[in-house]
Amino acid sequence: TPVLAVVGRPNVGKSTLVNRMLGRREAVVQDVPGVTRDRVAYDALWNGRRFTLVDTGGWEPDATGLQAAVAAQAELAMQTADAVLLVVDASVGATTTDEAVARVLRRSDRPVLLAATKVDDDRLTADTASLWRLGLGEPHPVSGLHGRGSGDLLDAILEALPETPRDTFGASSGGPRRVALVGKPNVGKSSLLNRVSGELRSVVHDVAGTTVDPVDSLVELDGEVWRFVDTAGLRKRVKMASGMEYYASLRTQAAIEAAEVAVVLLDASEPIAEQDQRVISMVEEAGRALVLVFNKWDLVDEDRRLAMKRELERDLVRVRWAERVNVSALTGRSVAKIAPALRTALESWDQRIPTGRLNGWLADVIAATPPPVRGGKQPKVLFATQAQTRPPTFVLFTTGFLEAGYRRFLERRLREEFGFEGSPVRLSVRVRE
Ligand code: GDP
Repeated sequence: TPVLAVVGRPNVGKSTLVNRMLGRREAVVQDVPGVTRDRVAYDALWNGRRFTLVDTGGWEPDATGLQAAVAAQAELAMQTADAVLLVVDASVGATTTDEAVARVLRRSDRPVLLAATKVDDDRLTADTASLWRLGLGEPHPVSGLHGRGSGDLLDAILEALPETPRDTFGASSGGPRRVALVGKPNVGKSSLLNRVSGELRSVVHDVAGTTVDPVDSLVELDGEVWRFVDTAGLRKRVKMASGMEYYASLRTQAAIEAAEVAVVLLDASEPIAEQDQRVISMVEEAGRALVLVFNKWDLVDEDRRLAMKRELERDLVRVRWAERVNVSALTGRSVAKIAPALRTALESWDQRIPTGRLNGWLADVIAATPPPVRGGKQPKVLFATQAQTRPPTFVLFTTGFLEAGYRRFLERRLREEFGFEGSPVRLSVRVRE
C-alpha cells in the first residue's frame, strides 16, 4: 500500500492527529518533549482505501546539530514515503525548525501536505493562514480536541497519495545506478569518495538527461557513471557533533533505502565492530545488494590478515554471499576493483530465474533431500516461483510448514545453483490447505 510519512516537532499535536486519523487510541500521546526514536507504521483505512501511516517521531532541538537532525528526519521521510504530512502547531505558528524542515520538504518530488493543529476555535483560523508562507501549499486546519478538519485532511491525503506505491527504482531506470557509501566514522568514506571522484566535475554535466540532486555525487568508475547517494556530508567533510549518532544512523538508513547497492566500508586494520554489523544488517533488512570494502589495506600485515580471516568466519558468515574488495583509499590500491564488484552485485539483485528452470532444480533437490517430516506428515513442495527481483524473492507453495533449517538448506542450494553473489535472497513459504 502507499505510504504516508508524518513528521513534526514534539508537542505539536502529532500523536493526537495520528490517533484521529486512525480512529483509535493506539498512538501514545506524548506530553514530554523528547525524541521518539522509533518509527511506527500503522495500517490506515479511509473511504475504502488503505494506506500505511508512518509516524517518524519528533525531533528535539537540544543539540547544536538541529539542522542536521531535521534534515535527516525529513529526508528519511521523503525517501521512504509516497507522500509526507508536515504537522505544525497553529497556536504557536511556524518556528525556525518548522521552516527548516519545510525547506527540505520543498525539494521533494513527492506530494507534501501541511496540517495546522490545535485550531480549536475560529479565532485561530487567522493563525492558520500565516502558515501559507512555509511554501507547502494550503494549510489544513485540524482540531485534536474536536476532531474537526481531520476528515477533510484525510480526503486531501488520499488525493495526493498514488494508487499504488511508486517504484523507487523504476523512475531511475536507465540513469546511473544508485550506490550508498556507508560505514562507521573514520573508516575512510570521505577519503574514498575523494579518491574516486577525481574526474567528477568534468563528468557531472556530461550525463544527458540526469537531474542531479545536490546531495548526490556522480562518480565515474571503470568507464561507467554511478550515482553515490547522499554524499553531501562526505564531500564537505562535515563531522557529526557528539550526541548525533542517532541522526547519523538515520542518514545511513535513508541512504541505504535510496540506493540499489550499498558499499559498506570497513577498517581492515581493526577488528570488525558492533557498529559495522549494524550497518550491514540495515542493508540486509532493506534488501539491497551489498559490497563489503575493506579499507586501509596498507596498514594490514600478516598477523592482521590471519585475524581478519577468523573474524570473517565468525562475524560475517551470514553475509558470506556479499562481494568483498580490499582497498586503500590512501594509496589507491585496488580501488578500481570496486566497480566490477558493484556490477556483479547488481546483476544478482536484478536476476530472474525462469519458472521452468527453477522448478526443474527444485524437483531434483527435493527428490534427493525431502523436507523433514513434521507431526507425522511429510510436507510436499508443490511449486516455486520468483515473485520479485531487487532483491530476488521466491515463493514456495507447500502442503505443510517447512522448518527454518530446511529453508536455509534450500537457500544454500539455490545460491549454489544460481549464484546471486552480492545480493540478499528472500524465500517465503505459502502453505496451501
Ligand atoms: P570517514 O569518517 O569515514 O569519512 O573517514 P575519513 O575519510 O575522514 O578518514 C578517517 C581517517 O582515516 C583519516 O585520517 C584518513 O586519512 C585515514 N584513512 C582513510 N583511508 C585510509 C587508508 O586507506 N589508509 C590509511 N592508512 N588511512 C586512511
